Amino acid sequence: MSRIPPPYRIKVVEPVPFLSAPERRAALDAAGYNPFNLRADQITVDFLSDSGTGATSTAQEAAAALGDESYAGARSWFRFRDEAAELTGYDHLLPVHQGRAAERILFTNLLKPGQICVSNTHFDTTHANVEIVGAEAVDLPCPEAADLDSHEPFKGNIDLAALEALLAGPDGERVGLVLLTITNNGLGAQPVSMANLTAARDLAHRFGKPFFLDAARFAENAWLVKQREPGYADRTPKEIATAAFQLADGCLISLKKDGLTAIGGLIGLKDPELFGRCEALLIATEGFSTYGGLAGHDLERLAVGLREVVDPSYLAARAEQTARFARMVNDAGVATIQPAGIHALYLNAGRLLPHLTPAEFPGHSLGCQMFLDGGIRSAELGSLYLGTLDEEHRLVSPAPFELVRLAIPRRVYTEEHFAYVAEVLGDIAKDPERIRGYRIVSAPPLLRHFKVRLAPR
Ligand SMILES: *Cc1c(COP(=O)(O)O)cnc(C)c1O
Repeated sequence: MSRIPPPYRIKVVEPVPFLSAPERRAALDAAGYNPFNLRADQITVDFLSDSGTGATSTAQEAAAALGDESYAGARSWFRFRDEAAELTGYDHLLPVHQGRAAERILFTNLLKPGQICVSNTHFDTTHANVEIVGAEAVDLPCPEAADLDSHEPFKGNIDLAALEALLAGPDGERVGLVLLTITNNGLGAQPVSMANLTAARDLAHRFGKPFFLDAARFAENAWLVKQREPGYADRTPKEIATAAFQLADGCLISLKKDGLTAIGGLIGLKDPELFGRCEALLIATEGFSTYGGLAGHDLERLAVGLREVVDPSYLAARAEQTARFARMVNDAGVATIQPAGIHALYLNAGRLLPHLTPAEFPGHSLGCQMFLDGGIRSAELGSLYLGTLDEEHRLVSPAPFELVRLAIPRRVYTEEHFAYVAEVLGDIAKDPERIRGYRIVSAPPLLRHFKVRLAPR
């Protein structure tokens, strides 16, 4: 069969606004041309993030009604803990309100100032939290990731030769943590193979370093391993996810993605001593260790979400939805990172808008045009996000690629929404030269993209 229908139907809907073109222009201008400053009631299709933006199921909402809000020892915690323990195999689990809280608590206890955290690619808040504890974030993506058009199956892998060279070299002593992001959100939603995880773990352990997973999309990574890696076709996504977790010494997870909930996160550990230190910081800054900043009803939704997300029929339909969207966008004349991942599509704005230099932020220009023409919100992943700026906010060194990420919320949009977005992109691709560049008006020093303000050139 060529069509894989989603294993659910719609029961509750939320209205979507349609602004006129002048209204959109005024909204974007008032937002300082930063999509993070737009209001949700100004957006027709919101592809800014797949984080906490998914739809919940009837089973999750029914479970939420059972939420136990006891300060300590709530029944909801034990339901969530049992599901998470079965999925991950870790003995020591701590709930947190979202992924970055897990980053802060783990890095505070695992990294010292001057140390190095090495990754396939750090996510933005992960990078920031490494730096906040005085450590250095080093990204070693595999060489295949540099070719956006190639169909290599595991472009999310870490560069094993570079990892070994770092560990064995003069900076090896400074490495405090090896952290693999699955899937690689910073680099095209590309998966990491089990072979790469195993080899990276072996290298880390050979040099006496802890090996952890940043596993926000553990189920989507498992699905792509099942489809693409020899030897895994007959394993369930859950079995593959468990095997990945068990390769590592521990994990941090933003459950706003594959937890299928609006809020939540998790730290999983094998080491009881590290657990004790993390628990003390959790209690001081997030909440007691049986709720970690979450309400009982959140824990209930999470317990159900962890089961629903590894359902093969859900993962097959979601992967197919993104793959079909990629074909529509490619047919409309816009190149995307190949092969398509699951949680997002990455548009090659540099190729679509060659008349703009990196200093004019082509990814940002394309994102703005998608909003102006169709009320579509997206996220730039190019020189605005990753480039180096001087004191006057002028671009000094560009990002390697000028991309726009269209993050796809889970169980939210229908085929018609995707066709609509592809049509807006197709119209842009017919006359790309009309699109102008942008310049930065003001920018904060850390996590620039969230608060930067721009103006058209
Ligand atoms: C979202 C995300 C985080 C941070 O999690 P939040 O829940 O947004 O705080 C960390 N790492 C990765 C890979 C993510 O996708």
